[in-house]
Amino acid sequence: MRRSLVIGNWKMNGTLASAQLLAKGIIAGLGSADADIAVCVPYIYLPAINELVKDTALGLGSQNIADKASGAYTGEISASMLKEFNTQYALVGHSERRSYYGDTNASVAARYVQAQEQGIIPVLCVGETLEQREQDQTFAVINEQLDAVINLAGIGSLSKAVIAYEPVWAIGTGKTATDEQAQEVHQYIRQYIAAKDQAIADKVQILYGGSAKPDNAKGLFAQPDIDGGLIGGASLEAESFLKIFQSVK
Ligand code: PEP
Repeated sequence: MRRSLVIGNWKMNGTLASAQLLAKGIIAGLGSADADIAVCVPYIYLPAINELVKDTALGLGSQNIADKASGAYTGEISASMLKEFNTQYALVGHSERRSYYGDTNASVAARYVQAQEQGIIPVLCVGETLEQREQDQTFAVINEQLDAVINLAGIGSLSKAVIAYEPVWAIGTGKTATDEQAQEVHQYIRQYIAAKDQAIADKVQILYGGSAKPDNAKGLFAQPDIDGGLIGGASLEAESFLKIFQSVK
């Protein structure tokens, strides 16, 4: 049985004060759920949020990670730097990184490897654009996104990673994939991995992301291959994020 996981992605929102308030609100409402929860915060807030989450059940993550270990890479933040602030998860290949900042499948795979070298769990984001879906390319796009990582890090590396299926057309648009649309792709991803290694496929957590909200989370999380969610907009309010968390299986 896979453990459920809900991760909030705060993106580039808020102030230090609002971030601290949000983290405190989430921690206050956590209860004792039999599932995992984390927030991916702006880099610069990691030290402050780390102070609040340590010794609590709220995990900490970054929204990106450098594709190199160290050196002359101005503006980048390395895995070892993130580790100093107890970062447990790092998003890699979020569609906003891929589309606005040129992250390629190759650079996403390199970021994934850097994270794992420091014991940080990479959350590998995959998903198709609307155009790709309409041209029946969804599975082909996902194959390429997964293969880049599998070819570099090996199929076994997925035992220390999380996958997030995030249809690009559903992120921040208010258009959620239906339960069936999401399950179809999650099942496809699990089968694709199973063809290479059944044990890893059974174990890997695959999260859904894309306009998940308190009123649609339960249906999505009830699907057999959906193990939780990566939540953007709805993670910016403690109440809605906690409601989503309480909807996990
Ligand atoms: C995301 O940023 O990963 C995301 C799923 O955003 P939203 O929930 O706002 O669609």
